[in-house]
Formats: sequence, C-alpha cells, structure tokens
Amino acid sequence: MKRAVFSDRVRTQKEDDIIPPLEKDTVRILTLGGVEEIGRNMTVVEFNDDIWIVDAGFMFREDDTPGVDYILPNTKYLENRKEKIRGIIITHGHLDHTGALPYITDSLGVPPIYTREFTAVMIKKRYAEFPEVKTPEIHVVDAGEEIKIGSLPVRFFGTTHTIPDSMGLIIKTPFGGVVITGDIKLDHEDGVVFKKEYDTFSIFKEEKALVMLMDSTNVSRPGWSIPEHKVAETFEKMFQKYKNNRMIIGTFASQVERVIKIMEFAEKYGRKVVIDGRSMINNLNIAKELGYLKIKKDTIIPAEIAHEYPDSKIVFLATGAQGDEYASLMRMANKTHKYVTLKESDVVILSSSVIPGNERPVQKLKDKIARQGPSIVTYETSDVHASGHGNREETLWIHRQVRPKFFIPHHGYYYMLRVHADIAQEVGLPKENVVLPDTGSIIEIRDKGSKIVHLPEKAPRTTRIVEGKVVKDIQTAVLADRQLLAQEGIFVVVATINVKEGRLKKSPDIISRGFIYLRESQELLGQVRLLVKKIVESKLRRSVQVNVDEIKQELHDSIADFLLQQTHKTPIVIPVVVLV
Ligand SMILES: [Zn+2]
Ligand SMILES: [Zn+2]
Repeated sequence: MKRAVFSDRVRTQKEDDIIPPLEKDTVRILTLGGVEEIGRNMTVVEFNDDIWIVDAGFMFREDDTPGVDYILPNTKYLENRKEKIRGIIITHGHLDHTGALPYITDSLGVPPIYTREFTAVMIKKRYAEFPEVKTPEIHVVDAGEEIKIGSLPVRFFGTTHTIPDSMGLIIKTPFGGVVITGDIKLDHEDGVVFKKEYDTFSIFKEEKALVMLMDSTNVSRPGWSIPEHKVAETFEKMFQKYKNNRMIIGTFASQVERVIKIMEFAEKYGRKVVIDGRSMINNLNIAKELGYLKIKKDTIIPAEIAHEYPDSKIVFLATGAQGDEYASLMRMANKTHKYVTLKESDVVILSSSVIPGNERPVQKLKDKIARQGPSIVTYETSDVHASGHGNREETLWIHRQVRPKFFIPHHGYYYMLRVHADIAQEVGLPKENVVLPDTGSIIEIRDKGSKIVHLPEKAPRTTRIVEGKVVKDIQTAVLADRQLLAQEGIFVVVATINVKEGRLKKSPDIISRGFIYLRESQELLGQVRLLVKKIVESKLRRSVQVNVDEIKQELHDSIADFLLQQTHKTPIVIPVVVLV
C-alpha cells in the first residue's frame, strides 16, 4: 500500500565523488539516457583528456511523471568535467536526440555542435526560441567525412531513418572505433538490401570497430521492417483510388521524408495541401529551404480558403494521429475544427502506428471519426506507415557488416536491450563482450582495448526535468506526491489551539480535494474532528510545552490510518496547527 510522503527528503549524497578517476588509455562510455526508456538519448565517450557527447534528447512526460513537461538526461557528470568536453555530435533532428540541447549547453560551457545540414538548421531554429540561452557554434559535417574533434578523428556515415541527414559515427581511438549508429533501419526490397546500404557499410572493411552502440527500438520484431518506399507506393495508390474524395492524412511531424513524399503526390495528382500543425510547417519550411522539397508556390494553401476548392482537389495534412486531445485530427473528430466538418465521402488516413500507451485515445479518435461517416485507412489494413527503426533481420545484417569486438545495445527499454544482446551473441560475440547498460552506466574498455568492464558505480542520475522553461532535479518523492494527489486526492485538517486553555479553540476545519465529496461524508468528517480533538488534547495534557511538530506528525499518522481503514484510500494528509 502506498503511503503519503509527508515531506521532500533532499538527497545530499555527492554521487559523483564515488566514481573512480579515468585511467590513461581507457575508453570510457556512459549511457546517460535512452537505455531504460525510449527517449532522452545521450551517450558520452571519454578518452584521456577529451569528452565527446553523442545526442542530447529529451523525453515527453509519462503517466508516472504528472506536471512535468520534459525529462532530460542528468548531465551532472559532464558539468563536473566540462573543460574536457570537445563537442556534442547530433545524429539526427528528432527531439529524442536534440530536445535537451537548449536546456543543457549553457551549463556545459557551450560546447560546439557537430551535425549534418538538416539537423543543423533545425537546431538553429530551436535555439532561436530560447533568446536567453547562448547558441553554440554549429559545425556542419557530411556523410563520409572525417574530421578531428579534440585529439581523435571522427568519421561520419549516412543512415536510413525517417528524417533527412540522419547519420552514424565512429570515434577512432588507437584501439579501434567507437561506433554509434543513431536511429537506423535499412532500405531493402523483400529483404534484399539496397546497394546504397552496402556502399555505406563498406567503410567497415577498413574501420576496425572496437565497440558498437546501436538502436534497439524494434529488434524484437521479426523479419524486416516495411521500407519507406513501400509506404510511398501505398500513398500513390491512395491518391489514385480516392481521386474524387477529400483526403485527410494524419501523421507525425517527425516523419519528414514521408510528408515530403505526400506533398509531391499531392502536386502530381493536382491537389492543394492544407497543413495543420506548427511543427509540421516548421519542418517543411526547412525541407524547402534546403531543397529536399520542391513544390510550386501555391501548392500549400491556408485552411480558410480550402472550401473554395472541390473535395477532389484538397488534402489536409494533420497532426494528432495518436489521439492527442487538442491536435487537429481530434478537433475534426470532436466537430470543433474551425474549417473541417467530416462527411461520409471523406477518407481519413492514419499514417502512424499506435504508440504503446495511446491505445485508448486512438480508439476514441477512430470511433468518433467513424461515427461521422468517412472511410478510415490505418496501418493495420494498408502499408500507410512504417517505423524508422530496423527489425531483427536488419539488425543482424548491420552487426555482420560492422563486426564490433564489444557491443552495448542502447535506445530502448531494458527488455529490448536484452533481446539485442542475444542477437549480438547470435552473430558470434562472446557473452562477456556484451554489456547491458542502465541509466548512468559507466562502461570501460581497458588494457589497450582487450576487455570491457561495467563499473558498479553510476554517474549521477537523479531525474532532471523541465517545467515551463526551468530545469530542475526532481526527487522521486515529489513525483510520488503528485501521483498520490492525482489518484487519491488531498485532505487538509486545520486545528486551531488555544494554548492558554490547553484545548481546541473551535472544531477543526477540513478541506479536501479529489478524495471524498465532503457534503456526503458528514459522518466521516465528524469522526475525523473527534479524532483530532482527542489527539490534540491528550498531547497538551501530557506536556507543558506545546510541540507543534509532534502534534502535526501524530495528527498526520492517525488521520492517514483512519482514512485508510474507512475508505481504503491514501490521500495526502496535511495537518495544519495554528496556535492562538
Ligand atoms: Zn529518430
Ligand atoms: Zn530516436
């Protein structure tokens, strides 16, 4: 049974003091995020006098973190060693790889960022929203390029994902490369891998891979993932099949490559496009700016003039395919969209899978749309969506190309990391060469690259969160309180004590929210008042001095116990003692 947490206990332990110093010529790797979760990816490589940070993502709040906007990787380890940081290398522009940047770079001494062009523009635009934060120097690198960052060469290679300019990298230590793939899948046709992938991975014929860290998101899915070109083919068929209908397509703004394809088809089949969703517009503007999206000026039209065109000439691109309450699709479903009223002849294509946890809102969304008559197409019935992460067979293929000596799975829940570790062993890695990391794990490759060690110590890993624009370390106690508040409610008792007379001045006041309906619980409240009176007066009888803290503690414990007995609930109980 959960018990109310009475106060925040501030942890004073200096977590960093226990970490042993780095020995010369040891390659140290830290997984600060993205290993017990999907999101807030951050990996750190440390060698002699240099530190390289790879990715700096955030994670959106989860069910067990109410009131929190984003969750960040804990960067305390880096703050304590900021003079060693040579750069932050960003693999691609998704927020689970870039989102933390404006919140952390100032505290890390504003290190330079290294990334490819598309990501660079996205990051610059993001910093523009944070005028109070210093924008780091951004160095644009390209696939195939090798540059020196700090004392070591770093080589980049292009990868297939869902956003332009995704890349992996190799930090070349004297004992072999530290290979980090970033988010990755393969382009293929029925499992026959395309030549461009062979070309990319041909660098591993010459690059000795000391250790690889690789995306584990979908490794537990069998076979091959649906390649994005299949999704494009499906969309072209949809444009042909529904040539007389108004099309409404719901997808993620992060699916930049798909959205570009949809725009091209729209133009090819003579339709205008209305884009609903700020992040989608931002990403498309970058794609246009960099020449990834070549469309005529008037293909995109504002929503308010869409009604001037016949249904067959219009596509709505909308966000909210996960059932998000305020996004465009839900507003259409709720009949509160300013410009779109759904009708039977419409076709709604949900071009996304259902993120675990969103099953209910997505179901609601589909039900509400269905009630208004449109046809609905989802990934379950057609290939209108593909994940950006490779399945099991792609994972095996990549392992066989890179052939690392050691392996650390990352980017995934712990179970996925475990599945990925098994895959690595299947391609021949001995068990002792594979390390399963946790948040804050410190892993060292010692003795000139001959053995890998998972240290028992962890880098500081107290949850770091953003609320509004403020970054703070949040104690789990605070989150536990918020959960209790949400689930069990709050119960405040105000006892006003007349010190001179040694008794309650009046009947205690009770305030309660989210726990019981006070008007209908008069009997229970009467019992609580009686209990308060009993406790206070017996306390006052027993001692000459009034010890407020003691009274409060006893009130808290007794009331909490009583409420639990009577209601089987554990609201947060707050006793307030006023002396008059
Ligand atoms: Zn990604
Ligand atoms: Zn990712």
